[in-house]
Amino acid sequence: MKIAVIGTGYVGLVTGTCLADTGNEVTCVDVDKAKIEMLSKGEMPIYEPHLDNLVNRNIRQNRLFFSIDLNKAVHNAQLIFLALPTPPGEDGSADLSYVLGVAKELGKIINEYKVIINKSTVPVGTAEKVTAAICENASVDFDVVSNPEFLREGFAIDDFKKPYRVVIGTRSEKAQQLMEELYQPFVRQGNPIMIMDEKSAELTKYAANSFLATKITFMNEIANYCELIGADVDKVRRGIGTDNRIGKSFLYPGIGYGGSCFPKDVNALKKAGNDVGFNFNIINAVMEVNHKQKTILVDKVKAYFGDDLKGLKFALWGLAFKPETDDIREAPSIYMIKELISIGANIVVYDPEAITNIRNIFGDKITYALDGYGALENVDALLIATEWSAFRNPDFNYMESKMKLPIIFDGRNLYEINAMEKRPFYYQSIGRRTVNNINN
Ligand code: NAD
Repeated sequence: MKIAVIGTGYVGLVTGTCLADTGNEVTCVDVDKAKIEMLSKGEMPIYEPHLDNLVNRNIRQNRLFFSIDLNKAVHNAQLIFLALPTPPGEDGSADLSYVLGVAKELGKIINEYKVIINKSTVPVGTAEKVTAAICENASVDFDVVSNPEFLREGFAIDDFKKPYRVVIGTRSEKAQQLMEELYQPFVRQGNPIMIMDEKSAELTKYAANSFLATKITFMNEIANYCELIGADVDKVRRGIGTDNRIGKSFLYPGIGYGGSCFPKDVNALKKAGNDVGFNFNIINAVMEVNHKQKTILVDKVKAYFGDDLKGLKFALWGLAFKPETDDIREAPSIYMIKELISIGANIVVYDPEAITNIRNIFGDKITYALDGYGALENVDALLIATEWSAFRNPDFNYMESKMKLPIIFDGRNLYEINAMEKRPFYYQSIGRRTVNNINN
């Protein structure tokens, strides 16, 4: 099939590449000229494991193209995916201006039947709005399909190629048939393609993300409570996770969810509810708890060193909102750095992929290390904000030799408590007992 993907970010690039990889001819369009130039040369504008090889293979085999020419890409395609940003507006609702702006343009361009497929995360009713926006100028038949995307950054290729399910919101038989044909190669292992109405499809995405955010937040509250009463959240996690009704995933406590999706989608669902006079009590609580959790490690630092951190130096390992990505949108690290700077701390940061993005925000207000150990030179403590694998088995002796004080505040529970008991460190994590093997 001939496909255009409008918006070549995390979702658009992965979608376009994976669809090209199953034999379709795909043109990925973006307004960002520099990004399109890079991609046309096979260079990656984002870090996503295995994407590089897949993009280059499909470029070489003449199935994947990159362009800033919306007109041409749309004319050539029968299926047009929208993978555009839907950032939070000032009131927290999803900003649909990118999606509706492109929809209006499409109305002017299309001159024969096309299927416009919305992959962006959008509130209920957006398919209707997109249809109306296209109709303003279009005089040919078309269908608008809601096809929310569930991929996770860091596992995007695998998630796209082997999805738990494909959700397709449409009431058009013609569009349904085309979509089922397109997705058949990705559900060969038996995972379902679910056909539903557009509104249910749109809400499925918000419900999924809000549920997962709730699960994380629930566990973070249990962890905070564990600390007060002397229980161990690792044991509680295992104790509940073996129950199939609960499941093992998303039970790891930490310093709150971040990223480009959960915070904005949870907020947008709350706002969408408010718009029709519905109050999502659970969502309100999730947002409030998560906000506090993002700086809980700084609270621990303050409890140890006091409220004024002038003259003290801290290393921060991990800046991305999660491992295997360079994405720092809504990352706890940003909140932590801001808070630490505001109370006088000097900060040296390290992340395997996200330093450039953080430098764009903080410039010379903080220092950047070339590797994890380099960040530890003469620091009063190390804080850990992202669970990169490279942080899991460090040389603790070497760390101790570099640090002024061997103190670790671990926001991701990277190290076993029993192992830390044998090391000459002060070690605080989330929802577990504090290890204090230093004299101070
Ligand atoms: P992104 O910011 O990485 O990419 C969006 C791209 O659209 C950018 O490259 C931007 O330049 C381009 N763009 C903006 N206006 C344009 C226009 N008029 N024409 C062409 N291109 C234009 O965003 P993303 O992370 O890929 O997210 C896209 C959507 O998918 C959002 O609604 C998001 O919520 C949703 N989503 C994201 C993820 C994720 O993990 N990132 C997962 C599932 C769903």
